[in-house]
Amino acid sequence: MSALFQNYARRPVHLVQGKGTIVTDDTGKEYLDFTSGIAVLSLGHAHPAIVEAIQQQSEKLWHTSNLFESPEQEKLAATLVEDTHLAHVFFCNSGAEANEAAIKMARKHTGKHVIITFEKSFHGRTFGAMSATGQDKIRQGFGPLLETFRTVPFNDIPALDAVIDDEVAAIMLEVIQGEGGVNQVTPAFAQAIADICAQKDILLIIDEVQTGITRTGTRYAYEQTVLKPDIVTLAKGLGGGFPIGAMLGTGELYDTFSPGTHGTTFGGNPLAVAVAQTVLDNVFQTEFINSVNEKSEYFLGKLKEALPTHKIVGSGLLLGIACEEDVSALVTKAEQAGLLLVSAGPNVIRLLPPLTVTTEEIDQAVDILSSILI
Ligand SMILES: *Cc1c(COP(=O)(O)O)cnc(C)c1O
Repeated sequence: MSALFQNYARRPVHLVQGKGTIVTDDTGKEYLDFTSGIAVLSLGHAHPAIVEAIQQQSEKLWHTSNLFESPEQEKLAATLVEDTHLAHVFFCNSGAEANEAAIKMARKHTGKHVIITFEKSFHGRTFGAMSATGQDKIRQGFGPLLETFRTVPFNDIPALDAVIDDEVAAIMLEVIQGEGGVNQVTPAFAQAIADICAQKDILLIIDEVQTGITRTGTRYAYEQTVLKPDIVTLAKGLGGGFPIGAMLGTGELYDTFSPGTHGTTFGGNPLAVAVAQTVLDNVFQTEFINSVNEKSEYFLGKLKEALPTHKIVGSGLLLGIACEEDVSALVTKAEQAGLLLVSAGPNVIRLLPPLTVTTEEIDQAVDILSSILI
């Protein structure tokens, strides 16, 4: 029996080392890591710049709490909102916490409590974020949930219209549902959301925990839509493997989080901030963003050539292969062949290489994918 709770269905692989896209297990077997620790390792494993950042910071200062001012947090916040319509940042430790902050912000700012979310969404495992999540399997057994979420089908304009009234504080969505099947918001649905938010004075929360930080080929995935969120939540790719989350908001929200209204002991910890700044100094560069888009196009081209009967979905380096069958056996087969993958919903294989992946590694991954899928 394990000393751990059984809440993860762990695969029988013990990874002990990583470099770039390659990880090695305790038997010396190498794998191409196309999970990136679930969209986390933006710069791959053991990137020299991150290793240096954490080494340097670890010799200076590990932790201060938020009792004291932090020019490093200020700089990271300014980098996150630079050239956007957003103005302020709150740092925390995870995606769920970022969404909790967003929910609290929306409630306090509007004085209302209803938030619209979507089926197949994923927003995290804490009580508020779980209640927001549009998947029964995640909520089952934990009720009664927070009652203030109205969950409607994704990309369904009449269904959305039907739940809008004067009680609604916010609409919360992922522009690409990462866990739910790599489902993209349609341009028509995005336009409908933009119109409703403008007409009804409803806040828009975009959960970019998975899609943000250049994963989808732009700094934030909302940039590829007409949407202008009031609040954006981040985590996964921001720390490149070190835990950090963030909530970004517009200038109008500034006074809502007055001193004492919200907080966390660890959020914006100096180690996390040093690493995240290093991640952004790389992945927000125009050249880097262009390279992600080039690799995405290359990957898409190779996948379409190798798997002509499969539908390929997603954007940037958050891609998915839609399959007829349950994909868990395929994920195991790929692992045996040396390619680590993760599913998205029951029928989609998710492809999340580090943003630093090479075209040779993409070729190798496509070879393995075509051998297991055809
Ligand atoms: C992973 C994820 C979360 C939850 O993040 P945690 O760090 O696991 O709490 C929330 N939203 C989305 C879109 C995610 O992909």
